[in-house]
Amino acid sequence: MPILEARGLRKTYGSVTAVENISFEVEAGEIFTIIGPNGAGKTTTLEMIEGLIPPDAGTIAIDGLTWAKDAEKIKYRIGIQPQSSAMFELLTVEENLELFATFYPKAKSVGEVLAMINLAEHRNKRVKSLSGGQRQRLAIGLGMINDPDIVFLDEPTTGLDPQARRNIWDIVLNLKALGKTTILTTHYMEEAEKLSDRVCIVDQGKVVTLDTPAALIGRLTREREVRLSFLDGEEAAAAAESAAQSAGSVVRTSREGAHLALWSVQPEDTLYGLFGFTKERGYRVEQVSIREMSLEDVFIAFTGKEWRD
Ligand code: ATP
Repeated sequence: MPILEARGLRKTYGSVTAVENISFEVEAGEIFTIIGPNGAGKTTTLEMIEGLIPPDAGTIAIDGLTWAKDAEKIKYRIGIQPQSSAMFELLTVEENLELFATFYPKAKSVGEVLAMINLAEHRNKRVKSLSGGQRQRLAIGLGMINDPDIVFLDEPTTGLDPQARRNIWDIVLNLKALGKTTILTTHYMEEAEKLSDRVCIVDQGKVVTLDTPAALIGRLTREREVRLSFLDGEEAAAAAESAAQSAGSVVRTSREGAHLALWSVQPEDTLYGLFGFTKERGYRVEQVSIREMSLEDVFIAFTGKEWRD
């Protein structure tokens, strides 16, 4: 049985449809990521599941429990990373954790949480003097204080620098190692690809597609971009372009000076063919790459829209 089932969720605010129709299931122990552009409905979806706002339609079951019947039980099973504004700025990191611990009959030890979020050495710092990344780590710790089975993290890395983001990734991966289920939202595709067991791409309040990152990328056409640049300049690149165009697997080409890009449904074969050609002509290749497909390409393929984070 999935640990979370969301069916047909819908939420409107006046004439704005924040969530039109969202359904998914999450298995215990997964890192499940909801990704989508600004305004796609990620936060609204999470807030409905967390019991913070009622859906206009649809059902939510958390390990078989429902908000209508089992709200108290659910509260002890889930952990919500609070908004920064919910923290007490003048209290220290440790005091915030101690205070949040009093909200629950059973809580994890503050020391254990400090170690998990890597803030032990800053335990006596006041919240107001924490960096953005430290604040986010504390927020995750506050969400973990009741030792929940399911943790909800809403855009925990937005606005953080790459190192601070990686620190958060380590915490999320550690939660998984502890057997927790994590439901994450982000608008960083790279993050979703690196962390998630499964990704649910949402756009305009609807699920665009849902699967493991590898399966989503695998569903894309086999057409891949191959790039070559030539030490012998434009002439070599132009000759290679003509040769590539006569190869059946090459769909299109584009060239700028000595740089050639081509899109092939069999990129490896195309490269072997091109190397044969350049060797025969004595052209020297300076750089070669085959661009990996990413979740960004999945989004573009499914929505027909450019991805901007
Ligand atoms: P972001 O990445 O920017 O946080 P999101 O995917 O989390 O976006 P939501 O915050 O769920 O998106 O918002 C979805 C849509 O619903 C947006 O158009 C938003 O303006 C609107 N919306 C959300 N909450 C409210 C509200 N309380 N009142 C009116 N409109 C709302």
